[in-house]
Amino acid sequence: MRFDVVTIFPGFFSGVFEHGIVRRAQAEGLVTIAAHDLRAFTHDRHRTVDDRPFGGGEGMILKPEPLAEALGSLGIDALGIEPLGIAPKTENAVRPQVILLSAQGQRFTQGVARELAGLDRVVLLCGRYEGVDERISEHLADREVSIGDYVLSGGELGAAVIMDTVTRLIPGAVGNQNSTRQESFTESFPVSPDLSAGGPSATCGSGGLLDYPHYTRPADFRGMAVPEVLVNGNHDQIRSWRRKTALAKTLRNRPDLLERVALTEEDKELLAQIKLAQGTQGEMGQAPSLQKNRN
Ligand code: SAM
Repeated sequence: MRFDVVTIFPGFFSGVFEHGIVRRAQAEGLVTIAAHDLRAFTHDRHRTVDDRPFGGGEGMILKPEPLAEALGSLGIDALGIEPLGIAPKTENAVRPQVILLSAQGQRFTQGVARELAGLDRVVLLCGRYEGVDERISEHLADREVSIGDYVLSGGELGAAVIMDTVTRLIPGAVGNQNSTRQESFTESFPVSPDLSAGGPSATCGSGGLLDYPHYTRPADFRGMAVPEVLVNGNHDQIRSWRRKTALAKTLRNRPDLLERVALTEEDKELLAQIKLAQGTQGEMGQAPSLQKNRN
């Protein structure tokens, strides 16, 4: 998969992806990340990429011409600009998906990440200043994407978030591919048989909820013991505990997710138990198993 990022700060991306999974994925040729300097597509002495907004108002707006030219250089026919660049120009060549980073965009989710991970090529346009001339999102980008309900100073962090999230979903990028199938926000996936080797396989998918809590050695850390159920070796009990704590954590931190996922009869029963426990002994809406030790 190839990412092309158009930005006024191409240097921003040099350090970000020199670590961990994305660095390895690049080294193994699973992903290519190329940052392109928007100013390279200007033609004036000052390499101007922005201008004042029509109608008045605060700030400066990224001009459409350099962005369209940048896309042209990537082989994308943009507002009449002849494609020049690196994309294969065969009849069947698939136009890359062009994404404009924008606080006004559709929310970036694990579902969108999975969708993008299935593409060969994605182009990310990073805004700056007060934003980007609207003709870019109207006529040039395939979609506007926001990484959350807050305003960043530029699209670069958003582009980095998208590239990181998508890369780890590319087959081969993460050592154990199954681990990306059992995480928070991940809808149900068939769990491959090898998962059951080391534990209770049916615990694995979050089914769109938050992940369950994880613990590792030592079993007792400064008087804080891991839940007994996790060390007793009973896979059925572990599976049920994990599901219950995932439900409890979701209820506490992201109740909106519970509205969106299909709950099983077992889930509904576990949720009823959690709510009952909250009503009688829970603290601050937490399931007993998730209460923090504040002593
Ligand atoms: N005036 C814009 C608004 O209120 O929606 C904010 C512009 S922001 C200061 C500059 C650039 O940062 C945007 O053009 C966009 O590329 C990027 N940006 C800001 N917030 C973002 C978010 N939540 N997700 C993705 N990109 C964002």
